[in-house]
Amino acid sequence: MVASQKTYVVEHLDPELEEWQVLEYTTIAKECAKANASFKLTGVPQSLLDTLPKQLAALASSSTIEQIYGVEGKGRICLLDPKGASDLAPADGNDFDIFLFGGILGDDPPRDRTSELRAKGFQGRRLGKEQMTTDTAARVTRIVVQEDIPLDQIPYVNQPDIEVTAGETVSMPFKYVKAADGRPIMPEGMHELLAQDADKGILDLL
Ligand code: SAH
Repeated sequence: MVASQKTYVVEHLDPELEEWQVLEYTTIAKECAKANASFKLTGVPQSLLDTLPKQLAALASSSTIEQIYGVEGKGRICLLDPKGASDLAPADGNDFDIFLFGGILGDDPPRDRTSELRAKGFQGRRLGKEQMTTDTAARVTRIVVQEDIPLDQIPYVNQPDIEVTAGETVSMPFKYVKAADGRPIMPEGMHELLAQDADKGILDLL
């Protein structure tokens, strides 16, 4: 069977666009390109579109996912939802070809802002009970639906302490995919950004 091409959509839900969100979205775009999948960034206010790096601007739009796919597209779309009724499984790759994520400032404890998308009636799937960053959620979804690997067979690092400057660590309240070297996979440039903002405290940054 030839698998249908997958599209990963992040609907940006914040009025602002933080630097670390740009890093996450850029990472999703790069990884999708490598995995022969498409990436779209939707719901970006017109005023912010101009501030995006070129490669991301080309994939971004001020239209929302509903405006792009319409009512008839709804059945193809799977919302990755921390409150989804069931966990995402490889077979979901047969039923859905569009995977939707909330582009939201992570918060701890989570404030359930994914509810804004849930309210629109998309079918939801969970990626386990721990909160992930948006790029991690997209990475895990790709591994499950494109590599056919069940959620519980993916190696993770939960709530890692990250050394940002010599002797200074920040605790990240999220679950990440574990790389071959044992470290959590994070966007390129994230360590530098964390180091810059180490003084502010992680909750101000996220
Ligand atoms: N604090 C947030 C979660 C933001 S995480 C909230 O208020 O909802 C950003 C996005 O990653 C979510 O919108 C969701 O699409 C995805 N995501 C993160 N962790 C997930 C999980 N455990 N299950 C399903 N989707 C998840």
